[in-house]
Amino acid sequence: MPWCDTCDAYQAPNALKDDGTCVTCGNEVDKADMNGGKSPARAPWHFWLMIAVLVLYLGYRLVQGLVWVAGHV
Ligand SMILES: [Zn+2]
Repeated sequence: MPWCDTCDAYQAPNALKDDGTCVTCGNEVDKADMNGGKSPARAPWHFWLMIAVLVLYLGYRLVQGLVWVAGHV
């Protein structure tokens, strides 16, 4: 996220002027965060794989539990 020191606020990247300055104060905006830098990395594919496996596992356990309950009523 581009950071404006003058406004002391984050600026939406598409809210900046064409030359990359702040629309509010017209000052240079710190764009160090925009490319690489501290920008939050997208979750890696193995993170989503882990989520998918977890969901499948929990779903499996849920079905197992329901079957057990159904067998004990
Ligand atoms: Zn500003």
